[in-house]
Amino acid sequence: MGYSAFRIVREALTGHRGWKPAWRDPEPKAEYDAVVVGGGGHGLATAFYLAREHGLANVAVLEKGWLGSGNIGRNTTIIRSNYLLPGNQPFYEWSMKLWEGLEQALNFNAMVSQRGVLNLCHSDAQRDAYARRGNAMIMSGADAVLLDRDGVRRMCPFLDFDNARFPITGGLWQPRGGTARHDAVAWGYARAADRRGVDIVQNCEVTGFLIEGGVCRGVETTRGPIRARRVGVAVAGSSSRVMALAGLRLPIESHVLQAFVTEGLKPVLPGVVTYGAGHFYVSQSDKGGLVFGGDLDGYNTYAQRGNLPVVEDVCEGGMAMMPSIGRARVLRMWGGVVDMSMDGSPIIDRTPVEGLFFNGGWCYGGFKATPASGWCFAHLMATGDPHPVAAAMRLDRFRTGAPIDERGAGPQPNLH
Ligand SMILES: Cc1cc2nc3c(=O)[nH]c(=O)nc-3n(C[C@H](O)[C@H](O)[C@H](O)COP(=O)(O)OP(=O)(O)OC[C@H]3O[C@@H](n4cnc5c(N)ncnc54)[C@H](O)[C@@H]3O)c2cc1C
Repeated sequence: MGYSAFRIVREALTGHRGWKPAWRDPEPKAEYDAVVVGGGGHGLATAFYLAREHGLANVAVLEKGWLGSGNIGRNTTIIRSNYLLPGNQPFYEWSMKLWEGLEQALNFNAMVSQRGVLNLCHSDAQRDAYARRGNAMIMSGADAVLLDRDGVRRMCPFLDFDNARFPITGGLWQPRGGTARHDAVAWGYARAADRRGVDIVQNCEVTGFLIEGGVCRGVETTRGPIRARRVGVAVAGSSSRVMALAGLRLPIESHVLQAFVTEGLKPVLPGVVTYGAGHFYVSQSDKGGLVFGGDLDGYNTYAQRGNLPVVEDVCEGGMAMMPSIGRARVLRMWGGVVDMSMDGSPIIDRTPVEGLFFNGGWCYGGFKATPASGWCFAHLMATGDPHPVAAAMRLDRFRTGAPIDERGAGPQPNLH
């Protein structure tokens, strides 16, 4: 069933009795051409592009819980392509281009809103670094505008420009950045993949891999073994645990990241605003709530809940940037387990086990990557070759000395 304005009117006039479930609830088959482990944004996008771009319809997505239970339904919804390094920027710009056509491609309202992303700077050195980053963005085909203090003031007059320690001196503005409704992205990809014949199997945890003679031939699950010619793993915060089932140790640590939302307010923020002197980012949802977050909790954990010291730190960042935020009441907060890689950049690659592919290390920036990650992982699984825009995201880059250290923080996952 296609979604359209005509369909809404028709259903409204006939008592809304014609709507069907957005995707089927199939029993897993004994064998598939490809199995994708993890029904988050990346797994679902991979299955959709395997079917649409590579003609593989005999595909299953295996999800241990329900769709949207992981980070795809927990993030702060920011999408952008404002990276510096050549290993990252073309990939994220390709993702942004896919976001721009996503709702038409999926026939689903994912509430993609290009309301802009503004990174504030607080010193001359930081402004110079932003100028360099903006130039790298423009060279990859992205958009970037360097704003001076007055330019930022016109856009966000409510910020604390004269903070004695961290005065705001300007900012890097990406007009095409913005937000998208996170769980609608999962639902949209799920429905579109299902319409192309992909089986989406919820409540089906992968508990092992069928490895015969060094080749992956399928997976063990809580609903029995499933054979497959290729297996792709996209389980985000569970990456280390799941890949350990195949005997692989990853250059990844899992940490918790928290997010917060306030009561609904009248429109105040023009887009996403990030604080450059600490780690704080905020946007306003269509319901009016201020959605914000900051740093990781900083120690390894698989718990999907955070702790008070980081709540305090995040709120201090918010108060330093935008003192009026102190009057808003926080309604909810939650945590998600993020897969932090050693250089802060992702991995989309083959593994030493033939037929087993890995997608992970998204840190706290994988939501914006969802379309390109699915596109490139599907390309890798279907053709065996890395996609050109993800060519640097190799698993062996830590051994060969080719890390993509966007932040320059070194091999310290908690600092990226
Ligand atoms: C609080 C927070 C804020 C964030 N904000 C942003 C942001 O603003 N912008 C941005 O770009 N990124 C953001 N991120 C990061 C982004 O959400 C993640 O990088 C991205 O969602 C990870 O990919 P995914 O959607 O596939 O993960 P998930 O949704 O976590 O999907 C992985 C799935 O694998 C399943 N799984 C695990 N083990 C198994 C198993 N054994 N068998 C079967 N299934 C299994 C899990 O249940 C889960 O559903 C944020 C993350 C958090 C936690």
